[in-house]
Amino acid sequence: MRNTMKLRSGAVIREVTRKEADAKNYLTRNVLTQMHLMPAGDPCAYEQNEDGSIIYYFDPARVVEAPPELWYYPTAKTDPITLESGTVIERMSIKRAATYGYYTKERLFQMHYEVIEEPVAYTIRNDKSYMYFYDKKTAVRMPLSCVKCGKDVRYKRKLCQACYEEEMAVRRAEGDEHRNASYGYSRERVLFFDLELTGVYDHDEIISISITNALGEVIMDTLVKPVRNKKWKRTEKIHGITPEMVQDSPTLEELTPRIKEIFAECDNLIAYGVSTDYSHIKYIYETQAEREALHDKTRCCANEFVRYIHEHRPDVVHASLVDAMDTMGIAWDGIPHTSIADTIACQKVWDALFPHYYQGE
Ligand SMILES: [Zn+2]
Repeated sequence: MRNTMKLRSGAVIREVTRKEADAKNYLTRNVLTQMHLMPAGDPCAYEQNEDGSIIYYFDPARVVEAPPELWYYPTAKTDPITLESGTVIERMSIKRAATYGYYTKERLFQMHYEVIEEPVAYTIRNDKSYMYFYDKKTAVRMPLSCVKCGKDVRYKRKLCQACYEEEMAVRRAEGDEHRNASYGYSRERVLFFDLELTGVYDHDEIISISITNALGEVIMDTLVKPVRNKKWKRTEKIHGITPEMVQDSPTLEELTPRIKEIFAECDNLIAYGVSTDYSHIKYIYETQAEREALHDKTRCCANEFVRYIHEHRPDVVHASLVDAMDTMGIAWDGIPHTSIADTIACQKVWDALFPHYYQGE
């Protein structure tokens, strides 16, 4: 069996003896340098030295001429030395080595590379000791280690599995405390709502409003006649509301006094993906202060569901209302995507997430 080695590029090359390499006219990096050539790609084979380091061989058909600035360095001391393997390497400054992508073993280790090839150049320290440089291109990328313990290999979120599990357990405990807390709200005063719109933009209008309370009572469920938009072909396919259907419905302006009354009587206003709904319903209020007061009452059921699955159900990757109902094992009342069915669904998901949200529960 021949030994093979996988390169960083994914290419697999095989081990050869020096005799085989010579027979095939393979060239070492050392010979290439002397000929003012450089490899045009990955090595084609390798030889292992006694000490375990590697000599790479390059295919003579796949080399290019080295740029002239690499041929000759008038100020560089080249003082070639011969390694035990017979390879000749030149002396160069740390700075020059870096321009070739050559670094010390220690520096490469800091960059998360492990050296397997023999040195490609050297320099002499002030204390006369030798410092060897290795080629970053042929070094092996090491698995990154955990940012917390620094010991184990990364698993998720830059942490090793143990540190990740530990961090998740802390988060899960915080989340459970948040969800299982007693909030003491009255079911009459917690409302759920859902809007259907002519489209997703600011100029789009509300064409349906559903509001229920946490007792499951329907407080408002009406179509709304838009005043600026005459048709909404694209969203019609989703919610099924046609221009004909809203012909005789009240306008938002007509409904506003009643909506304000309802909102004034509530402590919380919850929707699944509340930001879209809020960004349209807030316009029933004139002042910024009133809009902020409404915002303070809003809660997002989707955000809470996402937090829950992150902490408890990493297998669940989608977080639509339909996914939330499935995950929590709740059956639908009515057809998903109609605003009244979605509102009731949202209330049930909230009940499942927050079992002690209401007084005496
Ligand atoms: Zn760790």
